[in-house]
Amino acid sequence: MTDRAARGTAKRGKSAATGRLGGSIRPALTAHADAAPEAVDSATLVEIFRRFQAAEPEPKGELHYVNPFTLLVAVVLSAQATDRGVNLATGPLFAAADTPEKMLALGEERVRDFVRTIGLFNTKAKNVVALSRILVEQHGGAVPASLEALQVLPGVGAKTASVVLNIAFGVPRIAVDTHIFRVSNRIPLFVGTTTDKVQAGLEAIVPEPYRLHAHHWLILHGRYTCKARKPECPRCRIADLCRYPSKTTA
Ligand code: SF4
Repeated sequence: MTDRAARGTAKRGKSAATGRLGGSIRPALTAHADAAPEAVDSATLVEIFRRFQAAEPEPKGELHYVNPFTLLVAVVLSAQATDRGVNLATGPLFAAADTPEKMLALGEERVRDFVRTIGLFNTKAKNVVALSRILVEQHGGAVPASLEALQVLPGVGAKTASVVLNIAFGVPRIAVDTHIFRVSNRIPLFVGTTTDKVQAGLEAIVPEPYRLHAHHWLILHGRYTCKARKPECPRCRIADLCRYPSKTTA
């Protein structure tokens, strides 16, 4: 299949994932309705990721964790919260409980005390204890390396499952958050109206050597350079390749 055909298939195809952010970030696309309609060609796509890799060969996320379980908990807690805010809460929490067994023993009330500075802490504390119980009772206390098993855990869903699979198990999935959604539609790498469509599209078109780290490169690019309100185009390392018609000037 040619790249162009693959893009068409991915664009039309339905994602296996059903990310929770699909509807909630549509306004972001509307706000950038002047984004270029045609995605970059495959040679440009390769050059974009070559530059990301050259600048940061081993990109890392910013959530703190010590094992797959604490990564899972940190990602669950990070929904609609900043990584910094989550890290402040999870330092003491993970010192007290870094396994599902210990989290279960801690109990919902104490978990809630640790995470009460994070938005939606009541629901999140409940989910963290509930998912810990399932891991203990159904998975021998381990985090399963399976999308199907992960996304049915309380508070998890497809996007969180993709992040955990990518970071903890080296599965080349590209979970799409608000930053990746914006960046992909601006450059554009893949044009899509929902996070699910963009994830399916990116996973189909990003060349295999770059797929594992694409999630982190695109998030970091969106967070620190291609910012929502005012992208920093003059210092952007891919400005000459980007087709966004509303680039900023110095
Ligand atoms: S040139 Fe501007 S709009 Fe394009 S990717 Fe870079 S920061 Fe984003």
